[in-house]
Amino acid sequence: MIRNSFSSAAIGMFLLVWFPGSGDASGSRKADLVEIVALDSSIHLDIRYATKNNFMGMVMYAQARAFLQRPAAGALLRVQREAKRHGYGLLIFDAYRPWRVTKEFWDATPPSKKKFVANPKKGSKHNRGCAVDLSLYHLETGLEVMMPSPYDDFTEKSAASYEGGSAAQRKARDLLRTMMEEEGFSINPDEWWHFDYKDWQKYEIIDIPFEKLH
Ligand SMILES: [Zn+2]
Repeated sequence: MIRNSFSSAAIGMFLLVWFPGSGDASGSRKADLVEIVALDSSIHLDIRYATKNNFMGMVMYAQARAFLQRPAAGALLRVQREAKRHGYGLLIFDAYRPWRVTKEFWDATPPSKKKFVANPKKGSKHNRGCAVDLSLYHLETGLEVMMPSPYDDFTEKSAASYEGGSAAQRKARDLLRTMMEEEGFSINPDEWWHFDYKDWQKYEIIDIPFEKLH
């Protein structure tokens, strides 16, 4: 089930008429969501929305799984290889997010915090399978690396440019950013953990629950 499929398909068709064969029109790429740990099991998961340990305080996902569109997943695997050179591995909090969950976040979030959640009218890059929320873990111990704020902190400490916290925390945060940018991801300035893959515009908003993805 693709949310907004009518309007997106209409726009997509319009662009394809004008740019036949370009393959770059909005929503022009076919969804190909792949499960990240199936490609590289050394990437760790802490899928908070499959637990009550999240800002909603509710289980939002029936399964603790992480998917991305195939090119974004490939880029993430390259980041994992680079992270290992620094003694770290990637720790994923969230990746592809079904549209209905974005709608539930929006409805539950007070106006003062809405900059931290996507408006469901536009959808989120998570809904396109092109955004990932992640941190680092220590390869030796498996423990999460301390960053200047916890995940989903939703305060000024979450900003990518926040100058508080310890020097080691800022260094880890900035290393994650550098490695991700090197592979075509860009950071959300309000959230050190959130990265969008460069080709997100080419994918539709998706509303398929995890249990329907193989
Ligand atoms: Zn995010």
